[in-house]
Amino acid sequence: MKRQLTVLLIALAAAGLLVTGRAQAAALVLTHFTLIDGSGAQPVPDSALVIDPSGRIEWVGPSTRLKTPGGADVTDLAGKYVIPGLIDDHVHLGLVHGLKQDVDFYTADLVQEQLKIYAAYGVTSVLVLGTDKDLIFPVRAAQRAGRPEAARVFTTGQGLVYKGSYGGVPKLNQPVATAAEARAAVDNQARKGVDLIKFWVDDEFGSLPVRMPADVSKAIIDAAHRQHLKAVAHVFYLDNARTLVAQGVDGLAHSVRDMPVDEDLLNRMRQHGTWQMAATLSREASFTYTKLPFLDDPFFSRSVSPAVLTVLNSPEHASQLAASPNFARYKPVLETALTNTIREVRAGIAYGMGTDSGPSARFPGYFAHWELQLMVQAGLTPLQALTAATGGNARFMGARDLGTLAPHKWADLVILDRDPVADIRNTRTIRAVYVAGRAVPTIWQTCVGRPDHDCNGGPDGP
Ligand SMILES: [Zn+2]
Repeated sequence: MKRQLTVLLIALAAAGLLVTGRAQAAALVLTHFTLIDGSGAQPVPDSALVIDPSGRIEWVGPSTRLKTPGGADVTDLAGKYVIPGLIDDHVHLGLVHGLKQDVDFYTADLVQEQLKIYAAYGVTSVLVLGTDKDLIFPVRAAQRAGRPEAARVFTTGQGLVYKGSYGGVPKLNQPVATAAEARAAVDNQARKGVDLIKFWVDDEFGSLPVRMPADVSKAIIDAAHRQHLKAVAHVFYLDNARTLVAQGVDGLAHSVRDMPVDEDLLNRMRQHGTWQMAATLSREASFTYTKLPFLDDPFFSRSVSPAVLTVLNSPEHASQLAASPNFARYKPVLETALTNTIREVRAGIAYGMGTDSGPSARFPGYFAHWELQLMVQAGLTPLQALTAATGGNARFMGARDLGTLAPHKWADLVILDRDPVADIRNTRTIRAVYVAGRAVPTIWQTCVGRPDHDCNGGPDGP
């Protein structure tokens, strides 16, 4: 037996498989930081954390009680803050090249590139809502079999769109016309191994002739539940939200945006345990500008190419947006979304954080930080917003080993220079990002589409 083991070790060493880097061999220890653990608990100063060689958290507690494992690699983080990796539970991947949107762009390489941008912003997990091609399943399988070097992906495959109504992307989502078709489509997605089921109920400001009828949404929700999957809905209108909540939908993927939520909806959501999984405030806010207000902010511009920046800065682009028939609608839409967000939070509705980033000009990663800022602007505390984006989202998605910094969870975490509880904008002071216990390049080490020296600014400012 012993001899067999020796032979095996020699064989592995010869194959170069035995020594694969320091991170594999030794524990990592972080000390003397302020811990914000994602559970909603108050920050704990002078904390320490041990990451085992497999990339999971082995221990977390006060620095004074730390027992440093032999040979561990210790980093003193005095003055820094550690939060769990952020989770964005409403994104789309692989749809955009520059500012052009076409599902034909969707490749494993583009998906991987965008997952790296998410991770650079400290967003270490994303949930894609309904616009993935099937190649997402091997991408996800490879991540789950090992230790990803980019954001983890959760997928709803192809979401369900009612024929003639709003939702999905051309050439990908096959519309359904009946409850029976909807049931078959849910079963088909379940067979592929989706994490949740997504569907759309909207008519884009009445510009389309129909919305998904109630018998079809009921069929989707029931079929999802039979498959032990949550069903989440794109909504816009209060009356649809009311029906869907009564039908047992598990999450609303946008705020109600046509009018203020009322006691009836709040009562139903509480009664059914429905989540406001995403408020997508950054989505609505982005539509209120003809020129986005952060184009000169290096925290943003590092993630986009100079060509994209040129377009976003151009007067032609601004006048194109101003001419869009829906442009003027979005200021009240944003106001309604902000008001409904805080009303739901105060009413005790469970909530997560999601941006709807990924379509053209809705930027991966940056929007998560903007979303947190807008949640605070709506009236949440910074700690509530951070908890939504970490422990809350993980709980909603059933991601048991993510979202909080506790023993046995993956060491997906972000080290910040300044206190995000004092000012939510401090989530941008990213010093390091870890996925499964390994550092990945941060946005401050990223400079898309140009040499590194052409990107200004670090976590301490431009
Ligand atoms: Zn979406």
